[in-house]
Amino acid sequence: MKRKILTYFIYVIVAATLATMMMMAVISSRMFETQVVESMRYEAEALRALIEAGGEARLDEIGSDVRVTIIDAQGDVRYDNEADPAKMESHAQRPEVIAALETGVGEDVRNSQTVSRNTFYYALRLSDGSVLRMAREASNIWSIYMRAAPLIALLLALLIGVCVFSASLLTERLIEPIEQMTAHLNNVSGVARYPELEPFMTMIQKQHEEILRSADMRVEFTANVSHELKTPLTSISGYAELIENGMACGEQVSRFAGEIRKSANRLLTLINDIIRLSQLDSPEQKLHTEPVNLAQVAQAVAEQLRMSAEKMQVSIRLDTRPVVISADRGMMEELIYNLCDNAIRYNVRGGSVCIDVHPARDRAIVCVQDTGIGISREHQEHIFERFYRVDKSRSKATGGTGLGLAIVKHIAAKHNATIAVDSELGRGTSISVSFERLTHA
Ligand code: ATP
Ligand code: MG
Repeated sequence: MKRKILTYFIYVIVAATLATMMMMAVISSRMFETQVVESMRYEAEALRALIEAGGEARLDEIGSDVRVTIIDAQGDVRYDNEADPAKMESHAQRPEVIAALETGVGEDVRNSQTVSRNTFYYALRLSDGSVLRMAREASNIWSIYMRAAPLIALLLALLIGVCVFSASLLTERLIEPIEQMTAHLNNVSGVARYPELEPFMTMIQKQHEEILRSADMRVEFTANVSHELKTPLTSISGYAELIENGMACGEQVSRFAGEIRKSANRLLTLINDIIRLSQLDSPEQKLHTEPVNLAQVAQAVAEQLRMSAEKMQVSIRLDTRPVVISADRGMMEELIYNLCDNAIRYNVRGGSVCIDVHPARDRAIVCVQDTGIGISREHQEHIFERFYRVDKSRSKATGGTGLGLAIVKHIAAKHNATIAVDSELGRGTSISVSFERLTHA
């Protein structure tokens, strides 16, 4: 970056300096030329006055650094203050002479033998039809360039020096907040920032926090999983040991075997739930969306849970109106199942569960309501966390792993649905999930 800025700076400076110098040289050489021509014009006017007053013969007496030539109307040289007119060729074709013969005045600039000098010509027509021509050599634009070259080089060197210095200073200051930010990703409040970098830094910071959080969550999850696995495994190992040592006799053996089977089942559910969660977690997992009538799904789930509801002496009531959403059918079943399962499991004898499915404007609402034990406010915000159980013993006694609502939350998030909990301790709970409805279906 530093290098890039520096190179860029140098390019700009060199281009700007050269352009300025060239422009200055062009302008000054133009001004110089006009001045030369102007002064020649004055001298020519003066000489014309002298010649026309009959003083041509006195021309030689006037020392001049200007070459003076008089050319007659045919183009032959009549007089020259530096060379022998007899030896000079015809000047009829010289542009300034042609112009002077036609219009009264003419001028021209031609290269001299030396590249760095030009010859300026100025011609005036005299009253007798001949032409008075002045010629003067002067430096041209090249010589101005040549003379300015060391100055330009010096200036460029100076500017490049300044450039290198300021570019390094600039990049230093540009990069400093970024470096500081990288060093203090946890707390960037004190770091000087530019508004341009704000979105970038906010994003980086957010990602950083997310990474930390997910690392924390992973550690916590692993600890929880190990802990959850330990209990049933300890019990399996314990009962197996009793049987192994011959400490169990007769019907005890079958009771212990039953306990072992229960624990093994618990392990299976736990592992299934964990696998399910990690599937839902993975970003690669694709939703197989299709139009799903939530009322149908609710009816099917109610049918599946009828037995366990009867066992708990809980009645299930369905209150559904057909409403179609675009969703993964399997996941919808899972979601409603988990909610109903809870509503039955955390209910009271003789209690009831109501599964309500209905459209509301552009939304589809699934609401599972129970007359069960309810959840106190402080627990309500946690029930969607993994392994969170309000009453550990009750949940465990009913085979709960504390992952059901975590799965519900994941499924809802994958379908852009929102969840609302309304519960009162001792009176019951109502959890409703709101989906976007497929209006055209
Ligand atoms: P799992 O569903 O994985 O078998 P779980 O039912 O214990 O286990 P979640 O469904 O995630 O786990 O529920 C978390 C906790 O929230 C439950 O342990 C329970 O304490 C509480 N809870 C959930 N639904 C209700 C409800 N309808 N009434 C009262 N408490 C509930
Ligand atoms: Mg549950």
